[in-house]
Amino acid sequence: MGAQLLEGKVIAAKIKQHLKIELDRLKKDSAPKLVSIMVGDNPGAEVYIKSQKNVADELGIKFDLRRFKGTISQDGLVEVIKGLNNDHTVNGIIVQMPLPSHIDGKLVSRFISPYKDVEGVHPQNMGEIVFGKAKILPCTAASCMELLDSIPGLNLYGKEAVVVGHSEIVGKPLALLLLNRFVTTTVCHIATGERGNLAEFVKRAEILIVAVGKANLIKGEWIKQDAIVIDVGINRVNGKIVGDVEFDLARQRASYITPVPGGVGPLTVAILMKNLVEAYKLQQ
Ligand code: NAP
Repeated sequence: MGAQLLEGKVIAAKIKQHLKIELDRLKKDSAPKLVSIMVGDNPGAEVYIKSQKNVADELGIKFDLRRFKGTISQDGLVEVIKGLNNDHTVNGIIVQMPLPSHIDGKLVSRFISPYKDVEGVHPQNMGEIVFGKAKILPCTAASCMELLDSIPGLNLYGKEAVVVGHSEIVGKPLALLLLNRFVTTTVCHIATGERGNLAEFVKRAEILIVAVGKANLIKGEWIKQDAIVIDVGINRVNGKIVGDVEFDLARQRASYITPVPGGVGPLTVAILMKNLVEAYKLQQ
């Protein structure tokens, strides 16, 4: 037998069930509203928008998609965001990435009010993670924590985790979330790989979380026996979507593993809506 699969859709369904109950309680006056901003054309973002709309409809959340031409200026987009920040009927704002090359996505994100930042990317929300006080968490990092928390009887205290990838939206905040739960956490990045030390670190991991974007970067034989493996990576190989971990061999060694697709991905929109509900509460 191989590892048990950690399937995002199962956990997403539970989160949505909780949110429905909470929304019924909160919606006495008016349902929360999420505004999604799309600039230009991007087929990848269209898929994400569709799933945002579906989940919003399912939960009775108002969803307002605002489309702008790819030629909108950076200042123009910032003005749009400022307007939404000041609109008290808007509870959450999300800007679809990537933006056209003349717009700095990271800079634009900083203009979203931290109280409406449902992706948890504003420096204030990121910073609160250091203090263990964040109410709005970056969606993908939070999804990884939800996956771990879904494992029956797992006690994170003192476990050895290795996070591969130190991006601002996944690896770094995730490392802090793990530290906040007293997980002994190592973060690997490009230099770890370049020094040839990646295998050595991965082999120690009782919990391995990989967010790089390189197919088969993590060899199945490196996986510690009975490890928990969360593969965030999304790569297209010969028309198929695969993660960063050699799945078949890794599954034979791990105790739990996320499939790709179907692991982390289906959870992120549920977490986005959870963040919207938190944002709504913070704004009251
Ligand atoms: P990113 O910003 O490109 O970060 C990739 C990280 O991997 C960087 O920290 C990079 O280090 C590191 N890295 C690159 N080569 C490496 C190597 N050989 N060994 C170790 N580390 C290496 O990407 P991201 O936004 O974090 O996303 C990572 C992956 O997750 C992508 O495939 C993305 O599509 C996927 N993703 C999935 C979801 C989902 O919902 N399932 C959500 C978000 C992202 P340097 O910066 O130092 O080069």
